[in-house]
Amino acid sequence: MNQFMLFTPGPVNVAANVRLAIAKNDICHREAEFDDLLAGIEHKLLEMFEIKNKARYSAVVITGSGTAANEAMLSSVVGDKKVLILSNGEFGERLHKISDIHNANTFLLEFPWGQSIDVDVVKAFLNTHHMDVVVMVHHETCTGMLNPLQVIGGLAKSHGALFVVDCVSSAGAEAVDMEACNIAFCSSSSSKAIGSYAGLSFVVGETAEFEKLKHNPVKTAYLNLATFYAFMSARSQTPNTPGVPLFYGLDQALSNILLEGVSNRYAKIRRRARLLRRGMAKLGLKFLIDQKDMCSVLTTVVVPPNVDVGRLRQKLRECSIVIYEGKGCFKNKVFQVGNIGELSNRDIRVFLAALGEVLQGFQPVAQEKIAAVPLSPAHEAHDNSGVYAPAIAGT
Ligand SMILES: *Cc1c(COP(=O)(O)O)cnc(C)c1O
Repeated sequence: MNQFMLFTPGPVNVAANVRLAIAKNDICHREAEFDDLLAGIEHKLLEMFEIKNKARYSAVVITGSGTAANEAMLSSVVGDKKVLILSNGEFGERLHKISDIHNANTFLLEFPWGQSIDVDVVKAFLNTHHMDVVVMVHHETCTGMLNPLQVIGGLAKSHGALFVVDCVSSAGAEAVDMEACNIAFCSSSSSKAIGSYAGLSFVVGETAEFEKLKHNPVKTAYLNLATFYAFMSARSQTPNTPGVPLFYGLDQALSNILLEGVSNRYAKIRRRARLLRRGMAKLGLKFLIDQKDMCSVLTTVVVPPNVDVGRLRQKLRECSIVIYEGKGCFKNKVFQVGNIGELSNRDIRVFLAALGEVLQGFQPVAQEKIAAVPLSPAHEAHDNSGVYAPAIAGT
């Protein structure tokens, strides 16, 4: 029995068999047992991504959280060429920061947090600037918005650019069709929708693109994707000592997803999200973005004018429930409720009952004060560029 129910986008409550898996055999990562374990994980990853032509794709696993996989991609794929980062939130901004460290030719198209990526703006930019790589977050976790993979992937392809995607918070909950969306490389981690412990991340990519990486300038020794691929393709190993128990956990979590069936799994997470959203709407709560734009992983809720987020979280903690608070310009304006990991429909009903009770404990605000508070923070959230007028940075 867990002390806490994690209604967060990660870490998550893990399945009982994942918890047991990390206490398996002590093995050496330079022996056949590890080769088999990692080869199995690669195969299961390609299965989870529903890749039809498996020979065309490969995967590497990195001991390090999701950011490690993102930094491996951004430092290893671009070389001396030009990279465009599309951002509409905190995690897009993080990709830009990482790229800026490694790549002198980093360009940024920035859209307000909570708003969609404006495809016409991206199109116009690509028509006037040749880019070699386009990078985007799939699920922008800070708002819960799902970004348009297929459309941006199509644009990248028609402009001769590689498409690289951060799927850290979507893989395992939302379909990522690498073939149809022309994705050259994508990253994710073990601890979000995939449902294992934190500490591992991975990159899935086209084998032909992995092969080309060895010709790029080396910008990092430890997170060099070309080195990971060389060890993976030679013997299903990693360049340095891997966190072996975590590999057992990831392997079990992937087996769980495949046993359930990938599409059944996605449908289950969507049903839970609906249950959660219906319940929160009934409590009178408003959401930051339209339900049609939301990822199924979490819901971003506008903080009611009479509610203090710190106290709300504390009160829920006393009921063994953990939720997320907003970050950056969303601090104290939103809170986030995830519905991944081992949460049952019953757990969601327990959460909704507790939330209803805690919300009742806050003093109501006088009507005239409510009218003065903006309903959605999305429109006032952005502080460094005009609405719809993206800031363009680069050299
Ligand atoms: C969580 C997250 C990351 C960072 O992952 P870490 O495991 O904390 O390093 C990157 N991108 C997205 C979209 C995320 O949600």
